[in-house]
Amino acid sequence: MTCKRGADELAKLLQGNKNFMAGTPTAKNMCLQTLQSLALYQEPYACVLSCSDSRVVPEIIFDCGIGELFVVRVAGIAVGPNVKESIEYAVKKLHVPLLILLGHDDCGVMKYASEQYPALPGQFESILKCVYPVIDGAGKFDCNNQFARKHTQWVEDFLLKNSSIIRAAVETEQLTIAKCHFNHHTGEVEVLK
Ligand SMILES: [Zn+2]
Repeated sequence: MTCKRGADELAKLLQGNKNFMAGTPTAKNMCLQTLQSLALYQEPYACVLSCSDSRVVPEIIFDCGIGELFVVRVAGIAVGPNVKESIEYAVKKLHVPLLILLGHDDCGVMKYASEQYPALPGQFESILKCVYPVIDGAGKFDCNNQFARKHTQWVEDFLLKNSSIIRAAVETEQLTIAKCHFNHHTGEVEVLK
């Protein structure tokens, strides 16, 4: 056992990812019986902010079942008020010790933002406004997967700056934030520095 809150949960999920990569998933909590045992309460041990992309399915790539992950999904992990508050709910009310920010390869939002920058074409504006600051700071990216990694870091900074709940939980070591990137070729979830 490690003492930092969230470290054991991260190790468990990364082991689950290894199971997924090896083609040997072990997840058990996938049946009606599990759901019924949790009918009146939930106790997830991690919150995952994931892209809505159909190829990025947190429960599958982390080898999990019902009741384990509180998943917030939005295209490009673009944080707006509802997304921020959903994560805050997991931290404040469900006391999750771990928040995973999960970017991924071949993200349509990064591709679209790379094409459109710096225009705001009147569509998808709230999403673009969550992604453009990364290009503002670092310039245009040759590789959209690198762009996605930088954006995941930006999302952590944004949450720490704009959410007193998340900031306080990190400062008091009640919450670990793990910035991650999902590789479509290997299936690996890489933990970013
Ligand atoms: Zn995406």
